[in-house]
Amino acid sequence: MSPSSRKSHITNHDNPIDPRPRPKNEKLGGDAGRNRKYNMTEVLTPASSPVQPAPKSATEIAEQILGRIDWMTPTEGYCDCPGQNRHSNKSSRRDCAVYLDHTPTLHCVHHSCENIITATNKKLRDAILRGKPAEARRITAEDKARKRERDDSERVRLRAAKALPQVLKEFAWPYQQIVASSPTSITGNEPEHWKLLLQKFETNDVVWIGDKFDSGRSEHAKHFKPAGEWLKHRAAPAPFICPVAFKNTSCARSNDNLVARRFLVVESDTLSRDAAGAVFRWLHEGCDLKLVAIVDTAGKSLHGWFEFEEDLLDDLKLVLPAFQCDPKLFTASQPVRLPGALRDGMAGKYQKLVYLSPKASHV
Ligand SMILES: [Zn+2]
Repeated sequence: MSPSSRKSHITNHDNPIDPRPRPKNEKLGGDAGRNRKYNMTEVLTPASSPVQPAPKSATEIAEQILGRIDWMTPTEGYCDCPGQNRHSNKSSRRDCAVYLDHTPTLHCVHHSCENIITATNKKLRDAILRGKPAEARRITAEDKARKRERDDSERVRLRAAKALPQVLKEFAWPYQQIVASSPTSITGNEPEHWKLLLQKFETNDVVWIGDKFDSGRSEHAKHFKPAGEWLKHRAAPAPFICPVAFKNTSCARSNDNLVARRFLVVESDTLSRDAAGAVFRWLHEGCDLKLVAIVDTAGKSLHGWFEFEEDLLDDLKLVLPAFQCDPKLFTASQPVRLPGALRDGMAGKYQKLVYLSPKASHV
């Protein structure tokens, strides 16, 4: 589906920051009157994706030609534009996208680098499609349709990037205000924070809690337990958690072991904590993404935990990177910091909740 025909309210306005009108009783932290349109607990079925994963060699060839690529999906990523020094406007890391799902294609939002992009596309296709049958080399109507879709996506990205300063202003939510507006009182009991967050899962959800490398071997099975079991521990069991439910036979955080995505965790390495607050508030008030918790990682960043909305994922993948938020958290099995655990084992330095929605109804 092309971004222009999506019905979601993140990008279907002329301006991507225009929030939908909301009833007055739906303020931050308010639970009342919400009509769920999406089934957040829907089980992911990655196999149904129409995108064919590219053979590994295609990504390697692309990286040889283009340098470092930040992969968003197995076949889509961003790289530095090879014609960057010709850009007449300011360049950013997300201007130039690589697509390997069909005919290998490099696409840059700038026009001044067009000749270099055309030449690089030829080089990329020659290298990746070498030895493939002639029909694989032909640009089809489908390729042209994809290009139009990509152009639409790029326009949304550019518009979102331009809208960020306005979002930061109109949805300002500095750290101190976040703490003050938490619907659940959370100050003074930091060692208990992991339990409060875990209670937002279903009791039977098999949750991974561990250190970053506690995954992949049979002895790591003990890091996968139902939320109700974890809650019997006295203190935070480990510093990291995944915002998803796994199969009860898991010993690895792989997407194959995923049962359901429960939360989408949004973070930014570049925005200040106050600025990240504004993006969280925009997602909650402007996009109807339900804010569950905000975690202070005891480092530089804040993590916004939102109820997972499958239907909004495509739009969020376009808009959030333009808002300088981290796309790697779209990977379901990515571990994130567990509040209530000590940051790097440092005495007194807790990863902690700074905002928590009202008590969950299902635990
Ligand atoms: Zn370019």
